[in-house]
Amino acid sequence: MLDVHTRVMGVPRVFHPTLMWDEESVVLIDTGVAGSLEEIRNQAEAAGVPFSRLNHIVFTQQDIDHISGAADLLAGNPGVAVYAHEKDAPHIRGEKKLSRLTDAFLERISDRSEEEQARILQMFDNAATPVNRVLHDGDQLPFCGGVTVIHTPGHTVGHICLYHHASRTLIAGDALNILHAELVGPNEDPMAEDGVVAEDAISALRKLTGYDIAAIITYHGGLFDTEPNKNLGEVIAHRKLYSYRR
Ligand SMILES: [Zn+2]
Repeated sequence: MLDVHTRVMGVPRVFHPTLMWDEESVVLIDTGVAGSLEEIRNQAEAAGVPFSRLNHIVFTQQDIDHISGAADLLAGNPGVAVYAHEKDAPHIRGEKKLSRLTDAFLERISDRSEEEQARILQMFDNAATPVNRVLHDGDQLPFCGGVTVIHTPGHTVGHICLYHHASRTLIAGDALNILHAELVGPNEDPMAEDGVVAEDAISALRKLTGYDIAAIITYHGGLFDTEPNKNLGEVIAHRKLYSYRR
């Protein structure tokens, strides 16, 4: 798990992309935002990963804080295979607009200066990334002994989690978060904008209960390894969602 420090729309944030590697593959799961390359490379090399061997990028979803760092990574290495779920791939490629770019979002940023609004919209435009491997629920990826793709619509329609069998690690993207040290589901707000309701997001999380999980990596909250299966069960039973207001 990496810790990438950045600012998004002026606010300092830490993201947690995941890096996995074996003899054949160096795989980065989510890429941070533009400007994250140096920090990702430094942390990879500190972990002993030859970063020049990066050959796969997997996106858990289409949000710009997960995809917009890819352009810098691909500029230095255009042979990298890029993966996303079939429902988010067209948004990531720029064939469809990104789901967050709604009228409600434009309304929310309308009180900012024209330059600032233009900069934000440019960030969305620049995020377009060529996805050349489309993923489906249940796909098996051969990395590092085997990784299962689990479609978990909710935060976005094409959101996926990845389960790494050898380490029993669930890479949860934004399907799970940590709020006040407690495991919770996806953010309740963006789901409404996407037309995906909390009910759908919670039912998608039920799929995760079939896995024996030693650790969960959440993209915004980091590592959660306290009785992951039990706490996942409570997220579902008590319909715990992430909220900016709590
Ligand atoms: Zn996110």
